[in-house]
Amino acid sequence: MTAAGLRPVVAANWKMHTTVEEGCLLARDVCERADKHPDIDVVLFPPFVHLWPVADMLGATDVELGAQNMHWETSGAFTGEISASMIAPVCRYVLLGHSERRHVFHETDDMIARKVRTAVAAGLRIMLAIGETEQERRNGETIAVLTRQLSTALPVDLPSLTQEGIVIAYEPVWAIGTGVTPTPDDAERVSAAISLWCADRFACQPEAVKVVYGGSVTAENAVSFVRQPSISGALVGGASLRIDEFDAIMHAAQESRTLREVP
Ligand code: PEP
Repeated sequence: MTAAGLRPVVAANWKMHTTVEEGCLLARDVCERADKHPDIDVVLFPPFVHLWPVADMLGATDVELGAQNMHWETSGAFTGEISASMIAPVCRYVLLGHSERRHVFHETDDMIARKVRTAVAAGLRIMLAIGETEQERRNGETIAVLTRQLSTALPVDLPSLTQEGIVIAYEPVWAIGTGVTPTPDDAERVSAAISLWCADRFACQPEAVKVVYGGSVTAENAVSFVRQPSISGALVGGASLRIDEFDAIMHAAQESRTLREVP
């Protein structure tokens, strides 16, 4: 199986980093470098308060914008929350199910499922993050955990995973921000299982399911992940804050695309 026909996505999760000014400068640098990588999609997930100024900075470039989170209700008495309709004017994507939302802010599979429905209704593309903890991995529960996360988050009546533009980000919790990663073979094995599960659920080809890898991706290791047949790009945290490193990751994804192209 190979996801060779898919356009790789390289996404930057800035988390709670950068001032608005720093974010705008970083966005400007990403745009300049992204120009050299025309065959990949680049998505920035800055903090909420950066969204409008960063959108202005991106202007008519092809770099896409996404929000790091949103609430499942469309409006109401939810102090501190942001709705889909608030982000939709500037965002094409929303990141849902990130492990920090699950583990630090105790978001459940059910809450994530409600957000998925709301995001789809709002016409947002979703980057859905799933991943097992270190303990779950040691217990041999990785696939069972991922299957549970996917089956709860993705409603059976979702018309299509691919038309809705849903990207699955496989992010082992133990690899996020730790400098430790699965082997590329392990990441491939799990990504292939995710593609197969999604293909079965949504009656599509596994090759049509976009799965990206996330967790301590760096300029050095990016190539080994993005060249895997079932992996179509990367979700990058720490390294996305350093333009040269992020550029190298975009380059790795661009090359993977070139290498996969059928002559
Ligand atoms: C992330 O935040 O999604 C992530 C993968 O972080 P890092 O690249 O820093 O591990």
